Amino acid sequence: MPNEILTSRLQNLLRSPALRKVNFELQDGGLVVTHVRFTLVDSALSARKITCDVAKVTADSGKQIVAQYIANQGLADQIKGDGVQSAVPNMFLFPNDRYGEAPAGTLQLANTNELWIMVHEATHAIFDVMASSKKPANILAISNEMAACLAASLWYVHTGMSWQADAIIRGDAQAESMDLAWKIRDRAQTNRTTLVPRSETQALRMAVMDNWNLGGGRETITDRMDGV
Ligand SMILES: [Zn+2]
Repeated sequence: MPNEILTSRLQNLLRSPALRKVNFELQDGGLVVTHVRFTLVDSALSARKITCDVAKVTADSGKQIVAQYIANQGLADQIKGDGVQSAVPNMFLFPNDRYGEAPAGTLQLANTNELWIMVHEATHAIFDVMASSKKPANILAISNEMAACLAASLWYVHTGMSWQADAIIRGDAQAESMDLAWKIRDRAQTNRTTLVPRSETQALRMAVMDNWNLGGGRETITDRMDGV
């Protein structure tokens, strides 16, 4: 059952001024994230080609992950197998419909992390929107996660919000992408797409490989994007 509260919250986020400043191309992997592409995700949500739903998502390892974008039928079947009966392709899953909520008049610090994850998942959806069933794209999972982390962190550094001090684990992909986002923030301020050279994304790549278990021969794993 699509959740309208989550859909409108995500759309507001996609239309926010800070997200308009997220425009970059990763030399490592070649993925491009721009605010124009986020508007395509926004449009797909309006057209109900992508929906939001509430579900507890469990990864293969049994470790609970908080949110997910389901890009294709294979992934939907896998998630159904983990107990989410409603999973269909082109769906964002969040743990509850207060996810990312910012109470009026306050800046509840914990929500910066939830909003960060919403931008992260929306970035995965960009690559699905850019693909089609006739021309599916298989993108490296490492590149997909690197782009999603950097997009979310670039969004964050442009919001001016403050982060809950203990929420970031040093050395993980969120922290590494945050460091990189601060570094390239000024370059990314215009609407021009900033090229982020490979030399600047080494630490982020290592952290993603570690956090998503994409090392030790798993570097070639791809995520299938088949359009919305
Ligand atoms: Zn991700």
